[in-house]
Amino acid sequence: MRYRDLGNTGLRVSEIGFGPEWMKGTPEETRAIAEVLREAGANILDCWMSDPHIRSNLGYAIKGHEDEWIIQAHFGACWVDGQYQRSRDLDLVRPAFEDELHRLGIDHAEIGMMHYIDSLDEFRACMEGPFFAYVQEMKEAGVIRHIGLSTHNPDVALEACRTGSVEAIMFSINPAFDMLPASDDIDDLFGDYADAGESIDPVRDELYRTCATMGVGLTVMKPYAGGRLLSAEESPFGVALTPKQCIHYCLTRPAVATVLAGYKTIQEAKDALAYEDAAPEELDYASVLAKAPAHAYFGQCTYCGHCQPCVEGIDIATVNKFADLALAQDEVPASVREHYRALDKDASDCIQCGSCEPNCPFGVKIAERMVQTAALFG
Ligand code: SF4
Ligand code: SF4
Repeated sequence: MRYRDLGNTGLRVSEIGFGPEWMKGTPEETRAIAEVLREAGANILDCWMSDPHIRSNLGYAIKGHEDEWIIQAHFGACWVDGQYQRSRDLDLVRPAFEDELHRLGIDHAEIGMMHYIDSLDEFRACMEGPFFAYVQEMKEAGVIRHIGLSTHNPDVALEACRTGSVEAIMFSINPAFDMLPASDDIDDLFGDYADAGESIDPVRDELYRTCATMGVGLTVMKPYAGGRLLSAEESPFGVALTPKQCIHYCLTRPAVATVLAGYKTIQEAKDALAYEDAAPEELDYASVLAKAPAHAYFGQCTYCGHCQPCVEGIDIATVNKFADLALAQDEVPASVREHYRALDKDASDCIQCGSCEPNCPFGVKIAERMVQTAALFG
C-alpha cells in the first residue's frame, strides 16, 4: 500500500480507503471486508451513515484495531424516525455525533466532517452559527483533531478551502462529474449530462489546484460515479472504465490523498486494492476516454502520464501539473515553486523534439507547454 499526506494535517493516509456507503451486510460480512482492507494496509475509514445498525457493524468490524484506522466522523448525519436525515440542529447533531463515536467504539476521530453541505448559503449559515461553533468546540476538546467538510459542490468546497476553515474535504471526484458545472443539487450529477463541457469544469479544476496550494487534503467519494462509470450502457462516455482506471483518475488529481470507494463485497474491496499492484497499462483511463464516443478531454492535460518516456527524462505529467497549479494563481506560489525546483528535470530541459506528443491521447501541445512553463518558473 502506498500512503500520501492528507494536506497539511500531518496524517499519512492509504491511497485506498474504506468508504462503506450504504453497507447493509451482517456484522461478520462487514468485519471480513474491513479485515481484507486493513491487512492490505488501508488505514482510513469514512463513516457518514447514520443508520445505527451500520455504525454498530462498523464498530464490530474494527474492534481491536480501532487505533489503526484514521476515522472520518460526520457532524450532521442524523437518524430520525428510522431514517437518515441531514441536519444542522444541534439537538439532533450532537447526539448523532456522540452515537457515532460510541458505536464505532472510539473516543475521538482524527477528522470531523461537516456533513454534506452542497449550497453556499447553507455553508455560510453553518459557519456563522452554532453548528460550526460546536465543531470547533469538539476540536478544542480533542474529540476531533481536524475539521473537514463533505460536499459535492465545487463552489462550496472552493469557498471552504479559500477561507481556511477546513483542513480536509471529502469531495465527489470522477471523470464524469468533473465535466459538470457546480450545482446545489446532487441529482444533477446523475442527470443526462446535457450541461457537460468537453473537458474538466474550470471550477473543479480550480478547486483541485487551490487545495494543493493551500494544503487542504482531498478524500474522494463516488470514484465510480455510483457505479455508472463501470458500465458502458450507463456511463456518459459510452464506454466502461475499470475500478483501477477510475481510482487512478482520482489519484492523479492535485491534492487527492485517498479514494474511499464503497464496498458491498470482499471482491469489490479486492478490486480496488488491486490498484496498488496494477501495471501502468491497466491504469490507462486516458486512452479509454479519448476514444469514447461521447465527451473527451481534448487539449487539456489530465496528468495521465501516457506521454512518457520523455527523451530528456522529464516527468511531463508532473511538470504540467505544477504549471497548472501556478497558472491558477496571480503569482507562482512559493510551495509550488519549491516542488518544481526539486524536480530532477524540468521544463527548461525540454529540447522541443516533439516525440512525446503523438503519445498524448488528448492532443496536448506538450513542447509548447514546456516553453511556457520554463518561462513561468524562470
Ligand atoms: S518535446 Fe520535450 S517533453 Fe516532449 S519528449 Fe521532447 S524533450 Fe521531452
Ligand atoms: S500531456 Fe497528454 S499524455 Fe501527457 S500527462 Fe498530459 S494528458 Fe497525459
